[in-house]
Amino acid sequence: MDIYQVGGAVRDAMLGLPVTDRDYVVVGATVDAMLAQGFQPVGRDFPVFLHPQTHDEYALARTERKTAPGYTGFVVHADPSVSLEQDLLRRDFTVNAMARAADGSLVDPWGGQADLQARVFRHVSPAFTEDPLRILRGARFLARFTDFRLADETLQLMREMVQAGEVDHLVPERVWQEIARGLMAERPSRMLSVLRDCGALARIAPEIDRLFGVRQNPCHHPEIDAGWHTLLVVDQAARAGASLEVRFAALTHDLGKAVSEPPDHTGHELLGDAPLRSLCERLKVPAVCRDLARLTVRWHGEMHAVSRLSAEDKVRLLENLDAFRRPERLEGVLAAGLADVRGRPGHETDAYPQAVCWRNALRLAMSVDAGGVAKRFSGQDIANRIHVARVAAVSAG
Ligand code: ATP
Ligand code: MG
Repeated sequence: MDIYQVGGAVRDAMLGLPVTDRDYVVVGATVDAMLAQGFQPVGRDFPVFLHPQTHDEYALARTERKTAPGYTGFVVHADPSVSLEQDLLRRDFTVNAMARAADGSLVDPWGGQADLQARVFRHVSPAFTEDPLRILRGARFLARFTDFRLADETLQLMREMVQAGEVDHLVPERVWQEIARGLMAERPSRMLSVLRDCGALARIAPEIDRLFGVRQNPCHHPEIDAGWHTLLVVDQAARAGASLEVRFAALTHDLGKAVSEPPDHTGHELLGDAPLRSLCERLKVPAVCRDLARLTVRWHGEMHAVSRLSAEDKVRLLENLDAFRRPERLEGVLAAGLADVRGRPGHETDAYPQAVCWRNALRLAMSVDAGGVAKRFSGQDIANRIHVARVAAVSAG
């Protein structure tokens, strides 16, 4: 049997990037031969094994044939006669379809090296259309490899796939997984832009797609378009190194603007809850992301306007965030707020003095000895007594 390193590891090494996960393809072997060498089988669908010592992935060279719509409708064919070239042909992009032999030589039948030099993601073969997940993979690769672009013919193919209804068959978990990875990349806006360009965004996240073309007040938003603003905000969250929860909150904070009145969008914070819920349900967004996004959608206007709020309003908002038990909630909403403020042309390095005010208010309110209050007023509406004491502490501060 012959063993080659393949996929992202080959690509990343050629780009001079650190290589974390390594994948290998094994040519001329059988399942039994692999088991006899101590490799551990993983999964039932594909002939993939883990190396007994390194735990790297080794897959038998295989071909795939589409049998039904969606990600799972494949018949896999792996036997010792499948060549390396055939295996590479089934891969998504040419830069992901190169192999490195044990002697260091490169096997590049589909022009990956030239595309890598030209910084282009190009589909390997027309079979690209057989797996709609490739659209999302391409989109998230663009967010990570910020100097790459998509080949025109690949974008065209993606458009045709969307038109044919292919993305509608994707399972939510896989969509979310790719979206989450793209959000955690350097420029998440590049993922969203290409998804929009090919029509996939309107299918998988219409709530976000609808923000494009929505006018905002140019006094606060030089970029005017609410969709463009959203792109700038997620990129600012990424620039700040924010967590996935914060990046998702940044992405969704203005969903209400698709249904509120332009250009001022009064009340968009309340209106944003319904589209956020439908988005989270469709994509099965994890609860931590959904919860921070809900709070951000609902309260970001008040967070910005802290200087106009009374001590009572501030304490009530902190209670709504559950910030006394979970101070990280406040930090999350503030991080999204900072990205919101900076996600406007010319404001990329603005400060967010509101954060200082909110941390200060939380500190003052937390200085109240809740246990002491509870003891003093035992039995009599303790929650309200604590609230009143906190308001007093914030207004005195
Ligand atoms: P990353 O750096 O994010 O891991 P990767 O390119 O290594 O990127 P993997 O998911 O680790 O992505 O997959 C390894 C390789 O398997 C890819 O480089 C590609 O050749 C192939 N591959 C993975 N998923 C698909 C797919 N859906 N369609 C076609 N080829 C795929
Ligand atoms: Mg990989």
